Amino acid sequence: MRNLKQVIRDAKVGRSAVGHFNISDSTQFNAIIGTSSKLKLPVIVGVSEGEKKFIGLENAIALVKGAQARGVEVYLNLDHGHSVDDCKEAIDAGFDSVMFDGSKLSFEENVEHTKEVVEYAQGRSPAWCKATQDDQNASILVEGELGYIGSSSKMLDAVPEEVESAMTTAEQAVRFVEETGVDILAPSVGNLHGMLKGLQNPAIDTSRIKEIADSVPETMLVLHGGSGVTDQDFVKAIESGISIVHINTEIRRAYRAGIEQAFKDDSEQISPYKYLNKGRDAVSEIVERRLELFAIR
Ligand SMILES: [Zn+2]
Repeated sequence: MRNLKQVIRDAKVGRSAVGHFNISDSTQFNAIIGTSSKLKLPVIVGVSEGEKKFIGLENAIALVKGAQARGVEVYLNLDHGHSVDDCKEAIDAGFDSVMFDGSKLSFEENVEHTKEVVEYAQGRSPAWCKATQDDQNASILVEGELGYIGSSSKMLDAVPEEVESAMTTAEQAVRFVEETGVDILAPSVGNLHGMLKGLQNPAIDTSRIKEIADSVPETMLVLHGGSGVTDQDFVKAIESGISIVHINTEIRRAYRAGIEQAFKDDSEQISPYKYLNKGRDAVSEIVERRLELFAIR
């Protein structure tokens, strides 16, 4: 099995991107890896702090390791770790990558904490490496965030002001990457977490992505807040240098809608496998559409 770094590098060379989808439970996990296997495309599964707490760290690891052992190219990411300790816990547990979210800190503090996580991850490998002896060279990747992209995957009434005013510059990106040594960078390029109610999310500043990508050519770029972005913007963003795309809100919305539909169809239903499966199928549909789009070229 390729390690995550190779997967992202290969996507970059092929001018495509790897899909990153968040999960809260094993039903969503099964939808995601089922689609990944069907399309024969690698996939990253992410858990934020709340999601990790709900599913359980050990359960998340066990699900991913089990699927990897069956040949599915699935990788586990800690999404938006807000403390260094949180990231260290995920590194110790053997995640493939961790993201330290220092976007609310000053530039200097963000650099300091991100760097601490990068140093801690050095020489440590994902859980599946220990189990399979598959790739002793694989190390856990660290992602940092720079600029404002909002904070939660929910339905929004309006675009937060900072989305325009706090975009990442190429100059900041260079300084941040040099000072922290991150493998992956999440810039602010007009993207935002969550989806607008009844409106299109703002356009992605693809020329800014290109500028940042050219300035930090060794760093992998990730686009957070992919829910609500137009297909056209995704294609342009990937062509401009994005190698990972995060989708969360769309998954949450589809999961709930699928389960609601199951109860509309049969309000007396009490078997979880007969209503959760509708949620699972709705998630699979989103994942399939997104993976196919990100894999274009
Ligand atoms: Zn995010």
